[in-house]
Amino acid sequence: MLITHDTAAFRKQYRAYVQRRYNGWLHLGSVLLISLTVAAYCILQIRGLKGSELLVIPLGILVYNAVEYASHRWAGHKKLKLTSLFYKRHTGDHHSFFSAPLLSFESTRDWRIVLFPTYLTAFIAFFLAPLCGFFLTWVVSENMGFIMAATMILNHLAYELLHVGYHQPEGHWFHKVPVFRELAHLHRIHHHRKLMKTHNFNLTFPLFDILLGTFHWEPLGTFDDFRD
Ligand SMILES: [Zn+2]
Ligand SMILES: [Zn+2]
Repeated sequence: MLITHDTAAFRKQYRAYVQRRYNGWLHLGSVLLISLTVAAYCILQIRGLKGSELLVIPLGILVYNAVEYASHRWAGHKKLKLTSLFYKRHTGDHHSFFSAPLLSFESTRDWRIVLFPTYLTAFIAFFLAPLCGFFLTWVVSENMGFIMAATMILNHLAYELLHVGYHQPEGHWFHKVPVFRELAHLHRIHHHRKLMKTHNFNLTFPLFDILLGTFHWEPLGTFDDFRD
């Protein structure tokens, strides 16, 4: 069981590199604060909402799901010059830190390798989501623009919170809640080294995995049998 030894060694090395002043709760708190503040601001700008304008919510979820899938599959698991930092952080660090059978974090300090850096949340909340919002405002209506921006921001927050949930230790309440339990299982399957480059790239909902044929499911409880 060489992989266990390797993962344990990588964890030791990574933890030594994490700055002493790093605080997982502060990291998560800043992600929550930025996301919820900007999303609430967008929602509070909505005036005279028409029912049809809510159709932008499924559209926003669809766009986010596609971006989540594409960036994970073609940047997180493919070494490209432009996104080499993300590749190093994801395939190099995240997958080395969480590799079967070590799939759970041991303390909130390990959230350093689960959550994206706060600046990415800020980039999405202050730049990418408003950009999509301005586009929709220009093309359709201001309400749709604000709803689109809020949907993108909250979707990214859901990604971060779910990912923390997926790597919670066995026995945590998260793994007992239906749907969360199945989503966590899908992600843990993705963490198998033989499957990480080919299957289960969605984290929030496996829509594009299903559409593009990269969805892989194993019955719950069998994952522990996966070994290299
Ligand atoms: Zn993960
Ligand atoms: Zn991955």
